[in-house]
Amino acid sequence: MEYISTRGQADPLDFENVTLAGLAGDGGLFVPRVWPKFSETEISDMAGLSYVEVAVRVMTPFVGNSLDEGELRELCTQAYGRFAHAAVTPLVQLDQQYWLMELFHGPTLAFKDVALQLLGLMFEKFLGRRDTHLTVVGATSGDTGSAAIDALAGREKVDIFMLHPDGRISDVQRRQMTTVLSPNVYNIAIDGSFDDAQTMVKRMFSDPNFSGKFNVSAVNSINWARLMAQIVYYFVTALQLGAPKRKVAFSVPTGNFGDVFAGYVAAQMGLPIEKLIVATNVNDILHRALSTGDYSAGNVTATPAPSMDIQVSSNFERLLFDLEGRDGGRTLTRMQNFENDRAMTLDEDMLTGLRGLFVSARVDNEGMAGAMRWAYEESREIIDPHTAIGLQAARVSGIDAATPIVTLATAHPAKFPDAVERATGNRPMLPSRVGDLFERKEDYAKLSCDYDAVTAYIGERATARHG
Ligand SMILES: *Cc1c(COP(=O)(O)O)cnc(C)c1O
Repeated sequence: MEYISTRGQADPLDFENVTLAGLAGDGGLFVPRVWPKFSETEISDMAGLSYVEVAVRVMTPFVGNSLDEGELRELCTQAYGRFAHAAVTPLVQLDQQYWLMELFHGPTLAFKDVALQLLGLMFEKFLGRRDTHLTVVGATSGDTGSAAIDALAGREKVDIFMLHPDGRISDVQRRQMTTVLSPNVYNIAIDGSFDDAQTMVKRMFSDPNFSGKFNVSAVNSINWARLMAQIVYYFVTALQLGAPKRKVAFSVPTGNFGDVFAGYVAAQMGLPIEKLIVATNVNDILHRALSTGDYSAGNVTATPAPSMDIQVSSNFERLLFDLEGRDGGRTLTRMQNFENDRAMTLDEDMLTGLRGLFVSARVDNEGMAGAMRWAYEESREIIDPHTAIGLQAARVSGIDAATPIVTLATAHPAKFPDAVERATGNRPMLPSRVGDLFERKEDYAKLSCDYDAVTAYIGERATARHG
């Protein structure tokens, strides 16, 4: 399989090189040249297979010659063996129509583990074939940092430097990062906001004196391999509910549009999906875009669902590319205009194209709390704020009662104990496998919000480890 850039200017690459590169050289995002398709029989043949076996079938067309089937199976077995549930992403019934797909049984209790555990192993595999190392640099407002650190700790030929805003993430989130005492893991608390940290990281990527010298890479959700790993659970769950004979709808708590885009890819591959519900909180750029065509960025409002507190959704570009008839030149112009104006309008043709598959809803804090209470009263399920936004969007979607709607449960409620307790009166407990988090030793640097100081700190350590 060959990968092309959404902006049409970069050279096509194979899966291995796309995984290591992350972003395309022309600023675009990599997508497969064509969407692979399964026949109805190929899909129904997957029913009853284990998570790992479905993963191998769904991902084989994407990895091409970069991994043979045995290697892919080995990596999936290792990655998903670390999940605390035999089903990996178990399905839980709330009532006649509503279901939860629990994506939080990985090591850091958020759905990002599903993709990052596999990506960490792929990095190690691909770097083992060449004479290079990678320096992964990122900024996190919580979940991505801990999932990336867990996935990369102790791996050969890759170091990870993770910046977080000092004092502005929860104690659970900080400890999940800073108690990983591996020689290739560096946590840096920045005296500033998440945006300050993010701005510094972006500058490092565009600074040739830094990024070239230290072979800098990213693990954020623009990386194609992450999206690919997320396609799998749409198949697994739809099969459990009767696909391909029966259509299923999914409601997806959305931030960067990665998770819901994976659902879109599943539909392109032939999985019968009734609707994908794009659930946003009050940071509603995607809801405005899908309902009125107005894709314009405002200011971020902090909410109890911080992983969805996003104004610009990077992966939306991949969908725009398809809507533009896969014309990279048109997508390039559109994105350049957007970068100048911070706004774009989707025309009627595009909206008509979108509405066949997507619906959207904006859920405020009250709607979120109401959904948490409903889930608890209806079926004694305690759900986290992100999941609650998805569930509330499902409940107001107006989808026919005969169609099952699966809400993606993207985080364990114990990651957000205060918001859950406020809404339901119950304080969720950390699962026993991470129950000693508050006894573990922490290690991290505190640096001022100064580009030269931070790059000097990273540079010294990267040099010491790799010369
Ligand atoms: C990252 C995240 C999301 C948003 O997912 P996207 O792929 O960025 O749309 C939703 N919920 C939780 C808990 C997350 O960590």
